[in-house]
Amino acid sequence: MAEKNYDLIVIGSGPGGYVAAIRASQLGMKVGVVEKAELGGICLNWGCIPTKALLKSAQVFEYIQHAKDYGIDVKDAKVDFASMIKRSRNTAAKMSKGIQFLFKKNKIDTLVGHGKIVAKGQVEVAGEDGKKNTYQAKHIILATGGRSRELPNIKIDNEKIIGYRKAMVLDKQPKTMVVIGSGAIGVEFAYFYKTIGTEVTVVEYMPNILPIEDEEVSKQLEKIYKKEGIKIMTDSEVTSVDTKGKGCKVMVKSKKGEESTIECDIVLSAVGIATNLENVGIEEMKIKLNKNLVEVDEYYRTNVEGVYAIGDIVKGPALAHVASAEGIVCVEKIAGLQPEPIDYTNLPGCTYCWPEVASVGYTEKAAKEAGYEVRVGKFPFSASGKATAAGANEGFVKVIFDKKYGEWLGAHMIGANVTEMIAEVVAARKLETTGHEIIKSVHPHPTMSEAVMEATAAAYEEVIHL
Ligand SMILES: Cc1cc2nc3c(=O)[nH]c(=O)nc-3n(C[C@H](O)[C@H](O)[C@H](O)COP(=O)(O)OP(=O)(O)OC[C@H]3O[C@@H](n4cnc5c(N)ncnc54)[C@H](O)[C@@H]3O)c2cc1C
Repeated sequence: MAEKNYDLIVIGSGPGGYVAAIRASQLGMKVGVVEKAELGGICLNWGCIPTKALLKSAQVFEYIQHAKDYGIDVKDAKVDFASMIKRSRNTAAKMSKGIQFLFKKNKIDTLVGHGKIVAKGQVEVAGEDGKKNTYQAKHIILATGGRSRELPNIKIDNEKIIGYRKAMVLDKQPKTMVVIGSGAIGVEFAYFYKTIGTEVTVVEYMPNILPIEDEEVSKQLEKIYKKEGIKIMTDSEVTSVDTKGKGCKVMVKSKKGEESTIECDIVLSAVGIATNLENVGIEEMKIKLNKNLVEVDEYYRTNVEGVYAIGDIVKGPALAHVASAEGIVCVEKIAGLQPEPIDYTNLPGCTYCWPEVASVGYTEKAAKEAGYEVRVGKFPFSASGKATAAGANEGFVKVIFDKKYGEWLGAHMIGANVTEMIAEVVAARKLETTGHEIIKSVHPHPTMSEAVMEATAAAYEEVIHL
């Protein structure tokens, strides 16, 4: 039986909410978490984790198709789409169960239902049966996350026009698919579906796919995707989708004014997220919003005393590790500690397509626009022993340093396992490491991570293997 009085109630159990709850419990607070769906939020159930399970299936299939390159003869590998989906759902369920265990271990109450702040220090939780309970809390964190954003002219019908959730649980593998938007979610699904045999077209409004990444990385990924058979239309927008016939007719207009029609089975709308801020007490409590995001300070305090907001509903990149970091800073401040505010210039971003993409800090263009005189180094995986042995020569590591003081401004990577390599750069930048120290930090051989040391050496004209 849940208690009625808490030090902290968190609404939403995603990576923002559940991490905040656990840290608060460690700091001695009595915590309740309101959740109306699965524990673990989008990340564990409908985002980071189930997509990575699907991507792994696709990658294994791709490996098998190239088995001959490794001296292995495999015949008749076939995709079992339903089993791939099942594996992904099982992975998500396992992770969600893990949160249940962590809540129990940390004596955190789960308050099942829809949470709403109804008055100062009061949260009403409405169960599916319509029953309502009200709980008291000294502090309330909103961590309600997001859902697929819809374009006004392209409504998601969950049959022919789908969002990311449905893309993870389709009954049948589509033969043809148009993906609208080429952010991380769009390119990951494009890779997954293409690799298992769907004909995929990606339509992107901006000049490059993965538009927030360094241009060289985006261009390289585009080149690899095209080589693999993904059709890419940049500088183009989907103006309408006609779903009246058997499939979909997708009308695309390029910025030059050229119009074309693509026929496909399924359209995946991957154009970002909309925040879940309906019926949570925003209007009643007069919580300030800015462009549909909750306005907060560096400790995630809203304009209303005792109410905080973290994760996808506040400014900053909509990423799981960012939500978690915000949750920790928020509760440490509530507990009276002096946490260091998050440095939003040192947040890594990863895309788990194949090859993978990872980055942190300034792109070369952004660094120049910010007035830095830059020192750029690049090391291609074609010159890496480990990459050659693994048959993963595509891609490179690019590093950007400030010429004057040697500050590490950014790193951009495309290649196998780069999502595991970017953490080195994050730690080094946090420790204000210069390129000289990276060059002198002996990296193990043979590893992909040697490319970070070599790219840095290239920036200082000391590269050995080029
Ligand atoms: C397909 C996809 C792939 C992704 N891959 C990655 C990745 O690889 N890496 C990465 O860092 N990020 C990834 N993300 C983004 C990541 O999932 C989000 O940034 C992260 O989940 C945000 O965490 P959050 O705590 O803010 O909210 P969420 O994870 O969205 O959780 C919010 C929770 O609040 C609950 N809720 C909402 N309103 C209420 C209410 N009123 N009462 C009770 N409960 C409520 C919801 O049911 C949900 O469980 C991905 C997202 C998607 C969609």
